[in-house]
Amino acid sequence: MIFISDEKIIQFLNQTKEVYGDEINIEKKIISSKKIIRKEDFPSDLDVFYNQINKCHKCSLGSSRTNFVFGVGDKNASLMLVGEAPGENEDLKGEPFVGRAGKLLDKILFAIKRTRNEDVYICNVIKCRPPNNRDPLTSEVKECEPYLIHQINLIKPKLIVALGRVAGKTLLNVDNSLKSMRGEIHNYHGTPLIVTYHPAALLRNPNWKPLAWEDFKWIQSIIES
Ligand code: SF4
Repeated sequence: MIFISDEKIIQFLNQTKEVYGDEINIEKKIISSKKIIRKEDFPSDLDVFYNQINKCHKCSLGSSRTNFVFGVGDKNASLMLVGEAPGENEDLKGEPFVGRAGKLLDKILFAIKRTRNEDVYICNVIKCRPPNNRDPLTSEVKECEPYLIHQINLIKPKLIVALGRVAGKTLLNVDNSLKSMRGEIHNYHGTPLIVTYHPAALLRNPNWKPLAWEDFKWIQSIIES
């Protein structure tokens, strides 16, 4: 008889969830492809915008965060990378994608001849860390997403890349698997958007690295076309 540890089972289920979401053997459910985003008066300069919103308390995460995580990078980037939300390291440092996952992302960017400060801008859908790294709530996304949209309007990237299933499904307002969102060019408020693996998922499952590399070669060809 073969015994499998609880840890292995949990790891397997987490990896499965990253690719298939909650929809194993369940029909895909599209919630809606359209979201109504409130229009707000925001400044036309990214630094001024940061100063305007970095004390935000529009949702409860404003009270639990250590740092507001606005975004880093080139204000004229052609590539904008968007994760779901700051994690523990990001919350402590006030910068998106730091720690081991951030280092892997830096290596991927180097491989496509870029850095996080050259032709790339990195941020998250929401700017404050959800407790225990849970997924952002719909109400939090509703409050925070106008900030992201304004960042996109100011930076005007050629391509947005959603890193991970949660970022992809949140931005596209669908409840789909990563597998079904990958390999397609979607539209996010007029800007092309691609969904690929989150670097933390690649650390947990290195077998996905060749697939992610295929995506990033495609991403490079789009932004250089
Ligand atoms: S997550 Fe967004 S809306 Fe909520 S407090 Fe932070 S900046 Fe404000």
